[in-house]
This record gives sequence, C-alpha cells and structure tokens, in this order.
Amino acid sequence: MNPDHAAPHRTAAPDPYFPNSGDQRYRVHRYELALDYRPGPNRLGGTARLSAVARVALPEFALDLADFRIGRVLVDGKAARYTHRAGKLRIRPAKALTAGAAFTVEVHYTGNPRPVRSPWGGLGWEELTDGALVASQPVGAPSWFPCNDRPADKATYQIAVTTPSPYTVVVGGRLLARTTRASSTTWVYEQSAPTSPYLVTVSIGPYQAVPLAERPAVPQTGYVPERLAGEFTAGFGRQARMMAYFEEAFGPYPFGEYAVVVADEELDVPVEAQGVATFGTNHLGGGWGRERLIAHELAHQWFGNSVSIADWSHIWLNEGLAKYAEWLWSEHAGGPSAATHAAAAHSLLAGLPQDLRLGDPGRKLMFDDRLYQRGGLTVHALRTVLGDASFLPMLRDWATIHRHGVVNTADFRTHAARYSDGPLDALFDAWLREPALPPLRPAV
Ligand SMILES: [Zn+2]
Repeated sequence: MNPDHAAPHRTAAPDPYFPNSGDQRYRVHRYELALDYRPGPNRLGGTARLSAVARVALPEFALDLADFRIGRVLVDGKAARYTHRAGKLRIRPAKALTAGAAFTVEVHYTGNPRPVRSPWGGLGWEELTDGALVASQPVGAPSWFPCNDRPADKATYQIAVTTPSPYTVVVGGRLLARTTRASSTTWVYEQSAPTSPYLVTVSIGPYQAVPLAERPAVPQTGYVPERLAGEFTAGFGRQARMMAYFEEAFGPYPFGEYAVVVADEELDVPVEAQGVATFGTNHLGGGWGRERLIAHELAHQWFGNSVSIADWSHIWLNEGLAKYAEWLWSEHAGGPSAATHAAAAHSLLAGLPQDLRLGDPGRKLMFDDRLYQRGGLTVHALRTVLGDASFLPMLRDWATIHRHGVVNTADFRTHAARYSDGPLDALFDAWLREPALPPLRPAV
C-alpha cells in the first residue's frame, strides 16, 4: 500500500512528544548519502541529497542535523541561505518553493559525530572501541545525517560509506557495490522500502559474516566479532525457524533480507533498524531471557518498521505487538504459552504503580517496561475476546494491509473491531485510556 495513504491530517502536525523534531510542511521520498568515516579520529564527512515535496508554500524549511560544520547547502542545485542552531538547519531557498513542488536539497557536512543526549542516554551515532554503530530510536538520526526526523516521513535510501578496508559496513538493505581503492573501501547499499529516519542504521567494525539462512528462505546474516562466531551460531540457532513462524503469523517478511549485528561491546538493550537488529556481546549465550529479545527485534520488522506509527504517542503499537510476538514464539516453540506469560506480566504490573496510560503514555514513560508488558497484555486481552479463529487473521491482516504504511491507535481499534462480533470499545478504553490495570479475562 502506498505510504501516503495515511490521511494528511494525521501526519501534518508536529509530534506531540518531540515537537522540535521534523518539519511537517514537506515530505522526503528519497535520501542519497555519500559518507566517509575514519574510525580512529571519529571523523564523518559527506553529502546528503534529499528529494522532497513541499506540502505548502515554503519560503524556508528545516532539517534536523546535530553539530556538524556545514560546507554548502543547495536547493535545486542553487546555493541557499541557512542558519544552523540547536539541531535545526533552517534553509531559505533563493526562490520560495510553491505548494506541491518537488525539490532537492544537498547538504555538505563534516564533523565528529556523537550521540544526541536524551533521558534514555545517547542516541544515534556511537563511536565504539573499534568502529561505530547507530541506534537512533526515537530522535537520534540527526546525529549523523540531515533529515526530516519524523517516524511517519518514510523514504527510500541509498547509502554509500567509505571507510578503511579492514572494516565491514552493515547498512539495512541490499548491498549494491563494494569497491576498494587504495586502503579504503566504499560500500553502497540500497534500501528500497519506505523507511523512517530513526530506523536508518550503519554499523562499522571488524565483523565476520555468519550466514544463518539463505534463499528460498529470507536471507539472514550475522555480523559478529570473529571470536564470537560460534557463540552467535548457537544463540541465534533458532532465528531461521522464528522467521518462518512469523511469516506464517504476520505475513511475508517486509524486507529483502535481515542482518543481525553483534557489536563488540555490552549494550543495555538490542535495537531494531530497517532490516537490521543490533545486539551486544551480553545478548549472546542462549536462554529464554535472550531468545525473547531475538524474537522481539525480529517482530519489529513487521510492527514498527514496516507498519510505522504516525507519531510517538502510538508507541504501544510497536512495543505491545513486539512483546506479544515474544509470547507467541514461546508458545509455538513448545515453551510456556502466551497465557502463562500474560499471567506473569499481569501479576508483575499489579504490584507496580498504575499511572501509565498505554494509548498516550507521555514522553517520560514511552520506554517504561510497564508499557511493553501492558502492551502485550492488551493484545492478549484482544485474543481472549476474539478467539484464535479471528485473532490470528486480524493480526496478519493488520501487518498486510498496512505494510510499509503509517498507522495510529484509532486505526488499530477500527481494524480489530472488524473481527469481533461485539463492540471492543470497553476493552480498548480500559487497556489504553485508563491507568488502572484491568483484570485478565479467561480465554473464550
Ligand atoms: Zn521494542
């Protein structure tokens, strides 16, 4: 489905949680990034070329970009005036853009990329002991490229990264070319699926490629420090089966391939990107506590990455469905049932403060563990009311109808109601709008 299908009124307001991010007056449909990165001095330079369309007349517009030195800014090939302050690159084209006009912006920039500070720690480009990685959710993308940083502004990407030859560069999408000149190698990737800026990633490191699955299955490759290849194969040994099960449950995998990067560091949490998930060394070693993370990150490829949220207030749609995918996988793989996981989550939440409104948690609580647990419980409550004969098609159709699209909570409620004999308003209101924890209903 065309990603533009989201009604304009839903995507043309500032993000309620990050009103300074993005500029809703235009949309970008393609980014072409040509970057050079030197890991030693942590030096990034390059050119970003954006193809965009003005929604309204634009005498000026803004891109999100952290603290880089700007060389040149061109709009439609002509030098434009700009100011660059507090993460906003404000551009005034020589001639105002008219409503509906297609235009290109080219930004030349260099600097030492560093994470954007946030209440959840550094976001975006992160220098590693030997290399770099990018984990931008929710607003870290401007740490490395100029963008319209809104989850609903999805575009295709071509990303070329030049870096010293011993390093491997992993970017989501298809590797188009790898060219070595002198001691540097340029890796060119094409991401042809519509992608939110926060889901664009780069990993640079001394990685070894470890194939997990090849065609006709979805190609799956691990990029891991050489000494951890054995441990990786053991820990991720069931991912290919997981992929097959999720395709059955949620519909075809939305992208061409899936890469798993294991950075040579401990990371607080793994993080999803388009067609890629990044884990830390502490996530290897097996056991349910780690396998559930593998399921969670993979499920985000459907829920969050392909089906994107219109703004961050709807984050429970990403996290609730990814949490529930963990429980579905457990049940499918012969572990505890989803109902058992739901009961455990429910008793956990019953002992915690009940001041979270799942359907609009506020910026402060958007990554609170209670949001994940209650999100999974909401999906489970829906399953017990609908029964599997309706619930499973509902879930699969949700991912299929909105594949590569943009949604909000109201869309999900309307969609689910089509699979129900009776109204679901009371159920959704109790789980999404009220902070009190509803009781767990027995299965029908
Ligand atoms: Zn998640």
